[in-house]
Amino acid sequence: MSGPVGRSDDAETPASGDHGAPEVVEARQADVGGMVVRRSLPRPRRRTVGAWCFVDHFGPLAVGPTGGIDIGPHPHAGLQTVTYLLDGEVLHRDSLGSEQVIRPGQLNLMSAGLGVAHAEEPTGHYSGRMHGVQLWVAQPEATRGGPSAFEHHEQLPQVELDDAVATVLVGELSAAASDARQDTPLLGVSLALQRGGASVPLTPSHEHLVVVLDGTLVLGDAPLHPGQSAYLRPGRDELALAAPDGATVLLLGGEPFPEPIVMWWNFVARSKDEVREARTSWEAGDDRFGPVTSGHSRIPAPEI
Ligand code: MN
Repeated sequence: MSGPVGRSDDAETPASGDHGAPEVVEARQADVGGMVVRRSLPRPRRRTVGAWCFVDHFGPLAVGPTGGIDIGPHPHAGLQTVTYLLDGEVLHRDSLGSEQVIRPGQLNLMSAGLGVAHAEEPTGHYSGRMHGVQLWVAQPEATRGGPSAFEHHEQLPQVELDDAVATVLVGELSAAASDARQDTPLLGVSLALQRGGASVPLTPSHEHLVVVLDGTLVLGDAPLHPGQSAYLRPGRDELALAAPDGATVLLLGGEPFPEPIVMWWNFVARSKDEVREARTSWEAGDDRFGPVTSGHSRIPAPEI
């Protein structure tokens, strides 16, 4: 059995069953559509956790009817975008013709394959708290050149774990399985911890990232706050979480992604030449990405 490892266990030669202390990482701040976000992935020395390759956490912040996420049409290739809200509303529009409002507890999952474009805008009807995550998943060789697709999941499965309620976005936890598409073995879970703790079963072949969204999480002997995350190497079958005053955390996992990726702007590729091709197509407005119905104008690609 594994679990959180205290400093006393953090020896140079781990004992059998000891998979090292959680690696605590500070998010960096980035500006997305005028909103400050905490970006936990990618990091210089950690590009991916499973196939998860991009983790942005925004809010909580107060927004008016035209505030919050507001990003004009832009392209994606070689990745899936995963949107999950704790509070607020966002309108998704894409070049497949999808037009979908997402609300708390729901999931939007867009698979780019060779190429897709989308816009994310205020609904014009919502005022209040905005809080959520936007995540990217690198697509494997088998699907990254394939067709684009969009899924909206109105309801997600939930399971109680001790003092926590787990909402399964992607993958399976404790017999609660999400219907969301996964191109590689993945886990994405939002955990609402009441005062107390929870023991979360893990798949030992997966690596994991625990991202604090709200409150204070105690992992081993380390208190973690929003803006901090903890990376866990493969080999654990359990994770003990505590939150004396309650917390909301995002647990991401997956089998280590075997293919080295090149990330540039909104593209996940395998080479700089592929990135240049995608950029050229977007700038030319050819059929690869297609048009998006939006009041905003297209976002031009930056120079390489
Ligand atoms: Mn996007």
